[in-house]
Amino acid sequence: MTPRELTASLNPSQRDAATTVEGPLLVLAGAGTGKTRVITTRMALLINRGTAADRILSVTFTNKAAKEMAERIRELIGRRKVKPLISTFHSLCVKILRDEIEVLGYRKNFTIIDRGDQESLAREVLRSIRVQESTLKPGDLLAILSRWKTNGVQPESAGDHALDDREFLASMAYRKYCDRLRARNSVDFDDLLLLTDQLFAKHPDALKRQQDKFDYVQIDEYQDTNQLQFRLIQALVRSHNNLCVVGDDDQSIYAWRGAEVKHILSFQSHFPTAKIVRLEDNYRCTDEILNVANRLVSFNRERHHKVLRSTKKAVEPVRYEKFSDEVTEAERIGLEISYMIAKKNRQPSDFAILFRTNEQPRAFESELRRRQIPYVILGSQSFFDRKEIRDLMAYMRIISQPRDESALLRIINTPARSIGTTTIEKIMKRSIIEGSPFFEATRNAIASGELSERAGQSVLRFEEQLKTWRAMFATTNQSLGQSLRKLIESLKYKSEVERSYKEPAQVQTRLESIEQLADSVDDYTRRVANPRLQSFLDEIALNDRDEFGTDKKKELDQNAVKLLTIHSAKGLEFPRVYLVGMEEGLLPHKRSVEGTRQDIEEERRLAYVGVTRAQESLTLTFAETRRKWGKPRKTVPSRFLFEMRSDKQNEEAVEAE
Ligand code: ATP
Ligand code: MG
Repeated sequence: MTPRELTASLNPSQRDAATTVEGPLLVLAGAGTGKTRVITTRMALLINRGTAADRILSVTFTNKAAKEMAERIRELIGRRKVKPLISTFHSLCVKILRDEIEVLGYRKNFTIIDRGDQESLAREVLRSIRVQESTLKPGDLLAILSRWKTNGVQPESAGDHALDDREFLASMAYRKYCDRLRARNSVDFDDLLLLTDQLFAKHPDALKRQQDKFDYVQIDEYQDTNQLQFRLIQALVRSHNNLCVVGDDDQSIYAWRGAEVKHILSFQSHFPTAKIVRLEDNYRCTDEILNVANRLVSFNRERHHKVLRSTKKAVEPVRYEKFSDEVTEAERIGLEISYMIAKKNRQPSDFAILFRTNEQPRAFESELRRRQIPYVILGSQSFFDRKEIRDLMAYMRIISQPRDESALLRIINTPARSIGTTTIEKIMKRSIIEGSPFFEATRNAIASGELSERAGQSVLRFEEQLKTWRAMFATTNQSLGQSLRKLIESLKYKSEVERSYKEPAQVQTRLESIEQLADSVDDYTRRVANPRLQSFLDEIALNDRDEFGTDKKKELDQNAVKLLTIHSAKGLEFPRVYLVGMEEGLLPHKRSVEGTRQDIEEERRLAYVGVTRAQESLTLTFAETRRKWGKPRKTVPSRFLFEMRSDKQNEEAVEAE
């Protein structure tokens, strides 16, 4: 597209924003007003003007959003060799740390540990300070540590931030947790941001190198950026201040991650000369849907007033449907979708079912499967949580990173190679006391007689095997996928699976997922310019934390009904949306019903995000009873339903009761 064509596709305010490229710019606007369109067009315009694409950095919130943006930009400027960097905060930090982390005392091939390993590490640390699980659960410890890390609280000062006994214990575990991670040359998800922050604060030359990479920086979904993330970007743009952020305070749904509504306007206090552009025309939803959204969000007190006008007349009214229970809710929606596909020329991909919690999609899933309607679930249990996949990932991690002890401990005796728990414990104890790597500790333990020759040798044989695999993955004459397949073969991993499960169907699914893993390695190899095991593992580690799995973008493109949480629907749009389970305790979520007004406001924003995903048709549903712990319980319709309806509609609804 030519620059003229590019700007012609925008309205005057959008154009104003897209063509303001120098200096700080804040675009503050409601849902569906073209914020994402503005920043993608802005990138295209910059590139057309002669800016090298890789001098532009765009940061978004999920991997999915990043991929979507990359696609939109490709549509605008065509396929090019040099591309803008479109990244999440976390993958940006990984990139920076891979270049610079050595000054912080890590090696460049650090691993990012996954949730499961994080939990076993937390358990190990709690045990070492003799804290019972009944006093502090590993998961709770991790939640406290994560909050501290997000707020930039270091282990030294954590004690001062402890509010109760549990937090005090957590503050004692904090230092140990960090030390053990570091000994494994590993970082957790929160560290990515924290370490980059430290790097920028303490190593000006590293900061300077990173600053020199980009001339223009943009942030989408700015309302969900927390202080730490903002500080990083602020540091990156310091020399030119060419920073454009776009967001909507009404869609801020990550307060628990430290993003605050008031934060969006603090942009001006950081950049007093910032230009502010407001967009007021919504191009996504019909007027009826937008009325519902506007009415709902007007109940929030903490917000900035915004005008949001629709540009599309409604063909269908917004519907409110009540069902006797959650099974009927799923059945009726399934029936309607199948009718619309069969008789009304609709595609499965026109439909999305949005829900608040991860327990809800099950009923819809079985219903759609029964009707043979293609569907995909986004944001549910990740493929990478399956045992087989985690095992094989652990193999690849220890191959890529010899100090990754979490990975090592996971697979050292899987498949069985007669290395017993006592042996492992002896070696671990020694390794911690000596501060030596696992296999070195093994040799020392044999030398000192602590470990029998026989037990020790089976461990050392495994070390030899690891070396062989490491060499295999390092050769350039076969692809990563081939190396992985050979590894699986030499482990006889498939026979292990066949032995472990009785039912043929189970064996089949497991074997399929192993094959899928190899396929996803092949996909990765095709997709990137310089495929390396390390960067494949990074990609997985990051994706895993997203509400989306790895190939979810591919799934999103499929012609299938989408089942997804409201959180993961952010930024997306669908012709026909069902927002289901509109009940007190689900939306608003139970936790917030018992919480403060701010908590309810956050849930209301979440409902607002859900409503504004719909382009043509919106149906809000609730079930009068819902099973909980196996028993049907009466429900109360969500307060948001009353807020969404006009007074007249509410009166009619009461009469109909
Ligand atoms: P959200 O707040 O949900 O992230 P957004 O503000 O980022 O929404 P976009 O996703 O960029 O909005 O745009 C919403 C829809 O409106 C998209 O389908 C987009 O192509 C369309 N759109 C945006 N601007 C225009 C325009 N000027 N003319 C026609 N369509 C437009
Ligand atoms: Mg957007």
